[in-house]
Amino acid sequence: MMKDPLHYLSVPRQTGAVVPAAERVTQFKEVQARQGEEVREDQAKRCLDCGTPYCQWKCPLHNAIPRWLELAAEGRITDAAELAHQTNPLPEVCGRVCPQDRLCESVCTLNDEFGAVTIGQVERDIADLALDAGWRPDLSFVAKTGFKVAVIGAGPAGIGCADLLVRNGVEVTLYEAEASIGGLLVTGIPGFKLEKDIVARRFEVLKDMGVNFVLGTSVGKDIDFKAILDSHDAVFLGLGAPRSVDSGLEGSEAQGCLEAAHYLYDQNLKLMQDTSLHFDQLGKKVVVIGGGDTAMDCSRTALRQGADSVTLLYRRDRANMPGSPKEVRFAEEEGLKFAFCHQPLAVLTEDGKVTGIRVQETMLGAPDASGRRRPEPVPGSERDLEADTVILALGFRPQLPAWLSELGVVADEAGRVLAPDGRTLHPKIFAGGDMVLGADLVVTAIANGRKAAMGILAKLGVTAGVTAA
Ligand code: SF4
Repeated sequence: MMKDPLHYLSVPRQTGAVVPAAERVTQFKEVQARQGEEVREDQAKRCLDCGTPYCQWKCPLHNAIPRWLELAAEGRITDAAELAHQTNPLPEVCGRVCPQDRLCESVCTLNDEFGAVTIGQVERDIADLALDAGWRPDLSFVAKTGFKVAVIGAGPAGIGCADLLVRNGVEVTLYEAEASIGGLLVTGIPGFKLEKDIVARRFEVLKDMGVNFVLGTSVGKDIDFKAILDSHDAVFLGLGAPRSVDSGLEGSEAQGCLEAAHYLYDQNLKLMQDTSLHFDQLGKKVVVIGGGDTAMDCSRTALRQGADSVTLLYRRDRANMPGSPKEVRFAEEEGLKFAFCHQPLAVLTEDGKVTGIRVQETMLGAPDASGRRRPEPVPGSERDLEADTVILALGFRPQLPAWLSELGVVADEAGRVLAPDGRTLHPKIFAGGDMVLGADLVVTAIANGRKAAMGILAKLGVTAGVTAA
């Protein structure tokens, strides 16, 4: 049937149903439901199939978005999922956690006047539907190369690298310190953005694809890195950015002042293993410091734990926040209060416990190197806010392990491993993701891991059948 090029005029943008805020703050379940079949096909048909697919170029993985939208519009779910997996090993994850409003959907031709095509939602739904129906990537035609590569760290970069290598006939063993795969997908991202059984399903898919796993094993502690290096043709490292940026705030060592990573991990462990919470915020006054998606994740977690109040302290204004506008909107609907243009001066304490935070107003000056306007303190505007808990969500940095630096791998002053095109200074060691880029998005880590996989294939002399874009 001929596609109606003006379909978008009669069909507005429509996502799956969003759970009302009052209900979603009572649970850690996902906020947005799947689109029904008719809605999905109708939404996919809104794609104009522009001559220049800006969405595809804006996507860090350069997903073939117009092509899989076309397949979804025809109801060809398996074909659409197959195509989506050619460029993305985690389409069901990216469709949920990518800030589409800053990436693919931000440049959709329809975005300004009519609302972007629901690219992220279609991506997650076609992957979910195909995987739930038992579809798996078909690797039966892939010839084995005989090469063996170890991947250390089963987060987005490691999964991105492993997926591309097995699709090109390399035997991959993936080492992970946690008991499950996913890295920050399971330890950091809250369940209301990504339910953990979705990552568990991906574990089964990767096993079916032939990836070997050694879980619950910390390299450099439980197993010697040198032994892994000697027994493989190459090693890829995707160790992420585990070190929290130091706030330097007086009082930040007090009881009740928490690092975002520890706080989110605590709640995720409860979700996965039914452990007791160490940092429950029931009935507490919580102040979260930061303006990115992690700050939003902490705030929304505290609201779900029953905090009496949650206030986000950010030194710039709303327009200059780095977080996804969609996440900011969801957080506000759920009850988050914002203290824009405020910076922290000190955590206030009594008997070693947090009692509040001293803040100062800021005004915005000229843009800094990041393009965002620089906050400048307003003299005489200091005041104290009452708080039982202060959560620091100021970002993360990579950390080069000693066992790696001993082998000649080097990092810059920000802790980022020097690995252009994934190659470190050691000929057999490759690296990618946040460890190389600094803390960034899930999708950029995947793309970087795939790029490193291409470097590994080139080093091994394997002509890649499936490539990174
Ligand atoms: Fe958009 Fe992310 Fe999917 Fe790329 S991976 S199409 S940026 S949702």
